[in-house]
Amino acid sequence: STQIQLVSRPTGWPTADNFRTIVVELPELVPGQVRVQNEFISVDPYMRGRMNDVRSYIPPFGIRETMTGGAIGRVLESTVDDIAVGDVVSHQFGWRDIVQEDAKGFRVVQEIPGVPLSAYLGILGMTALTAYVGLLDIAEMKEGDVVFVSGAAGAVGSAVGQIARLKGASRVIGSAGSAEKVELLTGKYGFDAAFNYKDGAVRKQLATAAPDGIDVYFDNVGGDHLEAALASFNNGGRAALCGAISVYNNTEAPVGPKNMANIISRALTLKGFTVGGYFGRMPAFAAEMTEWLKNGDVVFDETVVDGIDHAVDAFFAMMNGQNTGKMVVRI
Ligand code: NDP
Repeated sequence: STQIQLVSRPTGWPTADNFRTIVVELPELVPGQVRVQNEFISVDPYMRGRMNDVRSYIPPFGIRETMTGGAIGRVLESTVDDIAVGDVVSHQFGWRDIVQEDAKGFRVVQEIPGVPLSAYLGILGMTALTAYVGLLDIAEMKEGDVVFVSGAAGAVGSAVGQIARLKGASRVIGSAGSAEKVELLTGKYGFDAAFNYKDGAVRKQLATAAPDGIDVYFDNVGGDHLEAALASFNNGGRAALCGAISVYNNTEAPVGPKNMANIISRALTLKGFTVGGYFGRMPAFAAEMTEWLKNGDVVFDETVVDGIDHAVDAFFAMMNGQNTGKMVVRI
């Protein structure tokens, strides 16, 4: 089994030197285990946080331990009754081509004809569940709301915008980091307005895109985007604080928005969350999303990088905005 490990903790942007590839000879299966050929592994922004040795909602990656994370594969060998050879399973064993672990770490998923297995890491998996929970449960989006989402061409953001439209938002606004992505937001994902945050101050661009203010902000970015949302909020506005990718590689503590007093004067609610606490929402989410996909109400992109040997590069590329939709590594 070829596996990727973290060998040192990055300061600022990670580099290839922080990782190594090892090849492990797998022993014969012991009772209770299954062996899985991974088909896709996920690279995600939260993994940057796990490279630091700090207390967080999830423990740091171990040094010289194989990196964990979402993955989907097909069973090669099994010693248990409820998992058969050929079954598709999702799991959290991450960055390796072949996984051999206790059966209880794997969940059998039903293949949907015409839907690639990578979808279980994105539009039918963790990232779109994050979008669903963050928008509906955390920000409590209601019909008629004006919704703004940052990181809008990414895995979470592209799902947020489309779910907001389907749930009756009166206007959906997105920001992303290139002209091509902005075009995709309005042309393909049905956003009403979009802008490139690299073209000028976010605060100004948001004010233009949302002349009547915003009611919901889904924050994937933090920093200047959060500050702009605080400036544009209508009274009673609600933010789901999902991520702050603009500061994940900072070496110094980030400075917060200067206009926090708007939270008081406009009676705003800013609520953070991590999706791990909301897997109970998976059945409701999966039922709705499967229907939306079938009807063509939701569309999605994925950026696929080939080979376990390119997993680290894929992670860097995602952190740099080279992905559209979910970034996955095909094994
Ligand atoms: P994406 O698919 O959105 O990929 C990351 C994107 O971030 C890049 O494509 C890039 O797009 C953008 N980005 C990178 N640097 C910056 C920057 N300085 N300013 C603005 N945008 C930047 O990743 P995900 O959809 O998986 O994750 C999106 C966010 O959601 C992250 O913050 C992540 O941590 C968070 N998240 C939180 C979860 C939770 O449980 N709370 C669960 C899953 C994700 P661009 O070209 O537009 O810059």
